[in-house]
Amino acid sequence: TPGPGTGLVEGLDPEQHAAVTAPRGPVCVLAGAGTGKTRTITRRIAHLVADGHVAPGQVLAVTFTARAAGELRTRLRALDASGVQARTFHAAALRQLRYFWPRVVGGPHWQLVEGKLRIIGQAAARARAGTDSDALRDLASEIEWAKSSLVSPSDYPAEAARRKRDTPGPAEQVAAVYAAYEELKNAAEVLDFDDLLLHTAVALEEHAGVAEEFRSRYRCFVVDEYQDVTPLQQRLLDAWLGERDDLTVVGDANQTIYTFAGASPRYLLDFPRRFPEATVVRLQRDYRSTPQIVSSANQLIAGARNRPAGSRLQLIGQLPPGPDPDFSEHDDEPAEAAAVAGRIKTLVADGTPPSEIAILFRINAQSEAYEQALTELGLPYQVRGGERFFARQEVRRAMIALRGAAPDQRPGTDMVTVTRAVLTARAGLTDEPPQGATARAQWESLLALVGLAEELAAVEPEADLARFVAELDTRADAAHPPVVQGVTLASLHAAKGLEWDAVFLVGLADGTLPIQHAEGDETATEEERRLFYVGITRARRVLSMSWALARASGRGRPRRRSRFLHGLIPDSHPASRIAGERRPGAARPKCRVCGTPLFGTEATKLLRCADCPSDVDLELLDRLKQWRAGAAKEQSVPAYVVLTDATLT
Ligand code: ATP
Ligand code: MG
Repeated sequence: TPGPGTGLVEGLDPEQHAAVTAPRGPVCVLAGAGTGKTRTITRRIAHLVADGHVAPGQVLAVTFTARAAGELRTRLRALDASGVQARTFHAAALRQLRYFWPRVVGGPHWQLVEGKLRIIGQAAARARAGTDSDALRDLASEIEWAKSSLVSPSDYPAEAARRKRDTPGPAEQVAAVYAAYEELKNAAEVLDFDDLLLHTAVALEEHAGVAEEFRSRYRCFVVDEYQDVTPLQQRLLDAWLGERDDLTVVGDANQTIYTFAGASPRYLLDFPRRFPEATVVRLQRDYRSTPQIVSSANQLIAGARNRPAGSRLQLIGQLPPGPDPDFSEHDDEPAEAAAVAGRIKTLVADGTPPSEIAILFRINAQSEAYEQALTELGLPYQVRGGERFFARQEVRRAMIALRGAAPDQRPGTDMVTVTRAVLTARAGLTDEPPQGATARAQWESLLALVGLAEELAAVEPEADLARFVAELDTRADAAHPPVVQGVTLASLHAAKGLEWDAVFLVGLADGTLPIQHAEGDETATEEERRLFYVGITRARRVLSMSWALARASGRGRPRRRSRFLHGLIPDSHPASRIAGERRPGAARPKCRVCGTPLFGTEATKLLRCADCPSDVDLELLDRLKQWRAGAAKEQSVPAYVVLTDATLT
């Protein structure tokens, strides 16, 4: 007879099956985007629970962002394994630290620091470092890097030199700010995010009783997105494990996007060496995206430099073909945003739900143009990482109005009708959406409240307004925002692990992706490439990539399309895919160095693409080409021209 967990192995490929059903002990899944890593770990957990190998409460699953942890919880709930804890490293540490605080420190537990930059400012003043806001932000992120990398203030100067850090000021001075920051923070009895992890690890390392209690409670650990673990998080993970080895990790080294904050894929890649008895599984079949999208992803990542061994897996698409990824160039950002919003409107009209569409960008400031363009076309949207629903002012005001009206509701009147009436009379809800990027958002919030009322009425037809208000209070406490069925606007960092039917990657200009400060820094540029890879691999069927030649019309320095698009835009028919194209039939000019087709400013002025050095002597290059073709007898070719030979092959 089939066991309780039989259904959990249905629809898995043989490699996924091996990882799901491996006995308790170390398991490592090394695989590319969309190959089912998250699916595999959630099934594995559910399988272990269903077969009685472990109780749900004994499993701790961790990942890096609240969004991703929420995604894990949703998937676990769908598999009947909702008793399993799925949290971010920080949320898990916070809970544990609060619990153990009386035993390891005593007294009331310290609060999380508010106004961290203010303390950094005081520390910088003490160390006579710069205190303007940019300088403080740079110092704050450098201190975060040091703490995540387990580098103490006294070790900082040597470590910064060894790792060739681009330090925000002389290393000795940064170390002095770091030391002063720690002192001030301790004196104020507050903790920053890194302290949560460190104090929890130390509590387990130094207090045998605490460790024993913890380890009798949690027996099985699972980490998603393990490629982004920092040395500090790894230390906490080791403290959780102790001498045990019941650890499942999954990750993709090509999606490491937090090395700037101390993350390193080496723990993932070294896992099989650290646990030689581990079940190691490699997945290559991509179940998320069309073969065309998979091929773009493969192509982009094949161009990566210094890829560690173990990250060179090619994805193999499993889905039927869809539309080719498309590319478009625009004069300025508003034009790009308007075109993207127009495309989205067509997709929605053709039946794609807005919640299945995402616009992804490199920096949050890019979101504004898209919010405006979507609003103009009456398309609902939500910004990831925006203010939480129940924290919004209009929602809080509306709840006060509903609470005030609750005692007046006459029995027998329909709760949804009453809710709508109260919000109309006292919170300014209108039938039609109002104009403006803020008023519209507030209107959406009020409408979402009506949606919640309808949701409650559907499951509890006799619920009255008082019951609805109580339900809202419960939700507000749990901080569960209602699902807004809109287009998602998110940064590439926030999009990791998620997927949509249609994805618009926007602002693909040099200086934005790769970001300006990565210029001339190969390590940083490669991280930008991986970020682009994360973006491409979020799309199931429609992938659209665009860029603008200027920020606003006629202003600022002209931009060029991202160097990462080099080789991605197919040579065969790029013209039909470029918006605002030149005359039909006109031959596209090509880069004189490497021969790729050129667009916009590149085409008219430079005659070289973004990837080729601008100081190449074109005449000599032509001679080199002829020389290579055996057409010229030229023997002495200057060394610097020979260097560019690499670009020719
Ligand atoms: P990422 O690296 O982006 O986090 P991932 O490896 O975690 O991706 P999942 O999100 O688990 O991938 O899976 C990607 C998509 O493929 C999901 O929609 C999932 O349901 C689907 N999928 C995974 N495995 C299979 C399978 N064996 N058969 C059909 N669909 C699958
Ligand atoms: Mg995943």
